[in-house]
Amino acid sequence: MPFTPIHLGPGLLIKAVLQGSFSLMVFAWSQIIMDIQPLIVMLSGIGHLHGFSHTYLGATLLALLSALSGRSLSLFGLKIMGLANKGTQITWTVAFISAFIGTYSHVILDAIMHSDVEPYFPLTLNNHLLGLVSIEQLHQWCLYSGLIGIIIYYSVYYFFQKKDKKY
Ligand SMILES: [Zn+2]
Repeated sequence: MPFTPIHLGPGLLIKAVLQGSFSLMVFAWSQIIMDIQPLIVMLSGIGHLHGFSHTYLGATLLALLSALSGRSLSLFGLKIMGLANKGTQITWTVAFISAFIGTYSHVILDAIMHSDVEPYFPLTLNNHLLGLVSIEQLHQWCLYSGLIGIIIYYSVYYFFQKKDKKY
């Protein structure tokens, strides 16, 4: 199912741990990029639902695309929302790290949930992650990781009272 928010849960936890070394916005952008193909297939009824975008090979290419397009888009978004200040920055390194974590974690989560995901294409069509945990457990884990991430992030933020916000 395209654009499910469950992918954002682990992203929030990673943000809490990596803080300024991780961009939640580039990560979120990569989730949208990843699910464009399934959305088109759902709307048109033509093609393989998850297909090439949900392979590690496809995710590698989409991570590059997400980082290249997502960095300036995120900075622009922060500006519009009035959240940008002098200290706001997303370095290229942070953009690429965030995008790769985004697309690879997306493949892993979807491979557990969806039987048509073939993460190792073209090497093999096997998906050893399918059914690793139940979908209910996976959703719970994503939700809890997100909640824990928010708590840790704001605890650290208020503890250090950072002057320079980094998204
Ligand atoms: Zn997906």
